[in-house]
Order: sequence, then C-alpha cells, then structure tokens
Amino acid sequence: MTLTEFRRRFITVHKCGGCGQILDYEHTETAFCDKCRLDWNAATTVGCPTCFKPARECACMPKLLSRAGALCLRKLFFYQSEDVYSPHMNMVHWLKKRHSKRMTQFVCDEMTAAVDEELQTLGVLPDCNEIIVTNVPRSWRAKAFWGFDHSADLARAIAASIGAEYVRLFTSAHSAKQQKKLDSKGRMLNAKRNIRFCDTGDCKERYVLLVDDMVTTGASMSVCVKKLMEAGARGVVCFSLASKNVKNR
Ligand SMILES: [Zn+2]
Ligand SMILES: [Zn+2]
Repeated sequence: MTLTEFRRRFITVHKCGGCGQILDYEHTETAFCDKCRLDWNAATTVGCPTCFKPARECACMPKLLSRAGALCLRKLFFYQSEDVYSPHMNMVHWLKKRHSKRMTQFVCDEMTAAVDEELQTLGVLPDCNEIIVTNVPRSWRAKAFWGFDHSADLARAIAASIGAEYVRLFTSAHSAKQQKKLDSKGRMLNAKRNIRFCDTGDCKERYVLLVDDMVTTGASMSVCVKKLMEAGARGVVCFSLASKNVKNR
C-alpha cells in the first residue's frame, strides 16, 4: 500500500456534501452518499416552469440577463427558498464555506455536458483561443471572511477541463454588500456600484463563459455581461450551479 493510499484509507475523512455523514473508502472520490446522490439527480431533473425542460437542459434566463446581451444561462438545478436544508442546497453551502477541491471538481464534472453543448452551438473547439472563462466575483466581505472565491475556483476548474484560458476580470469593491440581504432594486444598485471590471483586453473578439454559484434576479451577472459586451466580447454564455425557479422572469 502506498503512503497516499494509506492516508486516503485511514487518515483523510471525506464527508457527504448533502448530509455530512462520513463516506466509506469506496465513496471517497464521490461528492455524495447514495441517498443524497439520488436527491441530487432528482433536483437536476426538475422541469423549468417556462420551457418545461429539465434544469440541466434549460437555457432560460432572467430578463436582466437577456437585456444585458447574454446568450443563455445554463444551470444544474432550480432552487426555492424552502429548499434550504435539502442535500443539493447543502452542496451550495459546502462550496461557499469549505475550500473543497473534491466538491468543486464534482460540480465542474456535472457541468461538462452543458459546456460542451454550448461550445458546439457557438461552433468553437474547446481548446481554441476564441474562448475565455471568468466568474462573477464573490463580495469582498465574504471573500475576506472565508478566504476564497468558490465561483473563481469553479471557473478555473471548467477552464482546465476544456483547455481554455481562465482570466480574473472582475473584483468586488470593499463597500459591496452581500446580494442575498438586498431586494431586487438594491441588488442591482449594489452590483453596479461595486463590481469592478479589469479590462485587460482579453475578452475582445472572444466568447466568454461566465460562471457564478447562484442566480436569483441575475443582477450581478447582468452587470458583468454588460461590461464584457461593451469591452468587445463576441458573446457571453452564463453558467451557474443553481437558478431561482421563477416563471417568465
Ligand atoms: Zn448524504
Ligand atoms: Zn427553461
């Protein structure tokens, strides 16, 4: 037995991202226990209230995003406020609060099919120079508190999986408030005031894959899309872990 295998088998503790129970050795590479995996699979197949497709296949987006010029929004599941303690929502909290490579890679792998489909629609090869990947920034305060930006980690993992370049184009100002504590008007104002665009020229004439964790009204994402389009991007395709389940937004 190698030292790495010994460590994995007897020392490292891997927990289920849904319920927190310790996973046995055979499950150490997976994100969920069998029960939570079933819940996760069920959550990703819940139908969109607008196009009726399963969440994984739905490309619908909030009006704010379409107005800003985004091409579509792909997501893994829809969420509602009452889902707070479900295994798929626990996964979101896990990503936000623990710097976990295993969970980030799991979400990245789950998004692969949607990313491939969108690249095919755009008519570009994954590892070509025409694509860059970036993310909506975590609020400055949350990033300072937790010490990392989980959306940036996810964007980097997606970029690595398709051989594209990751560029950090957005940062959050110190005065930024957390979006979840604001109403829709407040969210837009907060995003406009506090999302800073570092125009490096990297997005000019290229397609941008824009990654975020949760999309509620789409305010933060739409501010980023608008800035990217103004800077000369050919198109922006949005990806999120979850999107709020609202009809015809
Ligand atoms: Zn579980
Ligand atoms: Zn839809």
